[in-house]
Parts: sequence; structure tokens; C-alpha cells
Amino acid sequence: MVFTAQAGGSRATKSFAFGYGALPMMLLLPPFVSWLWWCMVVRRGVPALPDGEFIRSIRAPSVTSVAIFGGWFSFQALLQIYAPGRWVEGIPMHDGTRLKYKLNGSRSWWFTWAVLVVLVLSGVVDPSKLYGQIPALMSTVNIFAFGLSIYLYIWGRRHPDEGSEQLRGNVVQSFFMGTSRNPRNGLFDWKLFCEARPGLIAWVVIDISLAFAQLRLYGTVSTPMILVCFFHFWYVADCYLHEEAILTTWDIRHENFGFMLAWGDLVWVPFTYTLQALFLASRRPFALPLWAYAGIVLLHFAGFALFRGANIQKHGFRKDPRAPLRWSGGRPEFIATGAGSALLVNGFWGRARHLNYLGDLMMGLSWCLVTGLHSVLAYFYIIYFTLLLLHRERRDHVACAAKYGRDWDEYCARVRWRILPGVY
Ligand code: NDP
Repeated sequence: MVFTAQAGGSRATKSFAFGYGALPMMLLLPPFVSWLWWCMVVRRGVPALPDGEFIRSIRAPSVTSVAIFGGWFSFQALLQIYAPGRWVEGIPMHDGTRLKYKLNGSRSWWFTWAVLVVLVLSGVVDPSKLYGQIPALMSTVNIFAFGLSIYLYIWGRRHPDEGSEQLRGNVVQSFFMGTSRNPRNGLFDWKLFCEARPGLIAWVVIDISLAFAQLRLYGTVSTPMILVCFFHFWYVADCYLHEEAILTTWDIRHENFGFMLAWGDLVWVPFTYTLQALFLASRRPFALPLWAYAGIVLLHFAGFALFRGANIQKHGFRKDPRAPLRWSGGRPEFIATGAGSALLVNGFWGRARHLNYLGDLMMGLSWCLVTGLHSVLAYFYIIYFTLLLLHRERRDHVACAAKYGRDWDEYCARVRWRILPGVY
């Protein structure tokens, strides 16, 4: 996918998409996730060269892993379809029409927890079971994600939409990026569902299962483990509390739905975002000094304020550009653009063009700091996430420059900083 950015009157073409990296990424990322698990569990958090032992640690799907994932995915899909929720309209698409979305994430999230608590208390489910099942589960979900991506590729070819217009490159690249923007069966929206349900909730479920594994293995749940679970639970619960804001994110508005997002949602999120909890479950519990806990909690909530404040402000502005700014309450100042939608230039969006990314990074750092200074792999999340958001900001910048032209230049001149005011 190549965006053409027109900046300052001269036409500059720059791609920050994945191009020829698509094939290597599809081939290497699945074993890479297995390798991370192996280093954490078998090599106690130390990065080690993959050897025969690593190959032997990879598991084929088992009956249990297929049952767990099949049950989980179906359960979440049924909740998406049948749990009561509000119907809302998305942001207008290129042709002016709007898609309808059913927002029942909060209900699905809390209902899932109620069911899990009942299953655990009644003895039907062993809450620490996932720890031993992760290798087989990873293989199962990887195979499913490839299968789903094939289905999405065919769907997009048969039902071209505005995302299909963006297709450039060969079959592999189209498969990777997706052939359509909004693949749907009836009102079931595959992108919103995969982005916001099975993988996202599984992330926290795996975390808490790892806390139970720590309890089983070491007879205690450490404060770092409690904090990691609490922070992640908070992050996902908040996402459902502001579920409608998902509809104005880059992924929903501008990204096609193919292997990259489907695999990312189903494999990457639940199996790499849980690395801190996996690290803590795989070694003897330890404690940090009180001042460290205080600093970490402060960093998390300061980051949260930036992240949520910026996201909710933009979302409120996109819904009604004349309404007072959410959180700060002032009147919105904006640049009216030739492209239709205006650009906010005060509040969080007047300080930097992506304070929401800064807040997200601060939270991510706090989650890693909880693991102490024992393992570089326990910091994998913040390293990867920094690269992801730096790359994403560049892509968003090019896309916005193409969409808004000189109005975007004016916005960038008024709001100079990309992510970190005064620095970057
Ligand atoms: P944004 O929510 O910042 O959305 C970018 C879009 O916002 C632009 O394309 C543009 O779209 C619009 N926009 C940009 N500037 C302005 C402005 N001044 N006024 C009004 N609208 C503007 O980015 P993302 O969707 O990438 O991220 C959303 C959140 O999700 C972030 O907090 C991010 O950190 C988080 N995230 C988390 C991930 C995770 O794995 N945990 C992964 C990726 C993101 P348009 O003008 O077309 O409306």
C-alpha cells in the first residue's frame, strides 16, 4: 500500500507500509512468538539461540487446545451476535454511507468474567491450566488465523469496497494487508469483532491464569503479578467503557482487514502482551521496593490520563465538532479542511499530534518495569510497541497529508511535535 503525500506544494511519495516485508513477516512471526515463549519459560527469560530443544518445544494442536480455542472463539462470537447492545453508526465512508455497529463489548466482557468465575468456583475449570497449554494453543490459533485470512482474502475479492481501491502490489501483499476494508457477514463485522473481542479478552484471561499458575507453583501471587494483571485488566475494561471510540481509530477507519490485523489480533496480542505475566509465573516470586511500586503506579495512571484524554477528545470532536471538548471542557478550536472533517488544534491535540501514543507508551513502560530488571524479554512489549507507534505515526502522517493536503501542513505548522512535546 503506497500513500502519496502532497506537502508544501511538492508531491512527495513515501511508503511506510510493509511492501516486500509481508512474506518474511508471515513466515517468521509465528515461530518468533513460539521462541519468545520458549525463552521465557525454558530459558528463564534469557534470549537464547533457537536449537533442537526449541524445535521440540513446538507443539501440534491437541484436542484440548482445539476445544479451548474453538469454545472461546464461538462463545465470543455468540456474545457479539446475541448480547444486547447499542447500535451506532460509524464515521461516513468515501461514498458518504455509514456502517452500523453493535456495541455490546462491555456486556460481553463482564459476562465472560461471570461465566469464568462460575466455572472456576464450581471446579469445572482449573484456572491455572492455560500455562501448560500455551504451546499447543499457539499452534492452534496460528492455523486458524491463516485460515481466516484466506477466507478474508477471498471475501474481499468477491465484495470489493473502498479498501479494495487501495490495493497495490502482488497477491502476497494483498493477502497480508487485506483485500477489503470492512468484511462482513450480514451485520457481523469481522474486523471490529477480531480487534475487540477474542484476542483482547484472552490477553487478560491468560494473565490471570498465569497468576493462578504462580500460586500453584510457588504458593503465592506476588505483588508484581497482581499489578501486571490489574494494569492489563484496567486497560481492557477501559477500552470497553469507551467502546464507541474504537470506531474512530486508524484500524477501523483506514486499514484493510487481512492477515496483518487478523493474526495480530488473534495471535500476537494474547501471546506477546502476556509476556510480563509469563515471566513472573516462570520464576521464583520477588518483590520491588515500595517507592518503585509507587512510581510505577503513577506512571501508569499519568499515561492513562494522556491516552484516554486524547482519544476521548478526538472521538467527541469527530461526533460533534461544536460540543465542548471532553475532559478539559473548553471550546474546540479547529482548522476547517477541504476534505470535510476538521482538525482539532487545541486540548490534547494542540500539544502534540499523538499524545495518545505517548500515554500508551507510558502505560506499556510501567507494565514492563513491574518485572524489575531481570530479563530484557520482559521488556519486549515496550520495545516492540515503541517501534510500532513510531512507524504508525509515520503512516498516519503520510495518509493525513494525502487526505488533507495544505490543511495538514497548516496543522503540522501549528502543532509541531509528533508524539513527545519538546523532544519529538
Ligand atoms: P488515532 O486515534 O490518533 O487516529 C489517527 C486519526 O485521527 C488520523 O488518521 C485522523 O483521521 C484523525 N486525526 C488526526 N489528527 C487529528 C486532529 N488534530 N483532529 C481530529 N482528528 C485527527 O490513532 P490510532 O487509531 O493509531 O490509535 C488509537 C489508540 O489506540 C491510540 O491511543 C493508540 O496508542 C492505541 N493503539 C493501541 C494498540 C495496542 O496494541 N495496544 C495498537 C495500536 C493503537 P481522520 O481525520 O480521517 O478522522
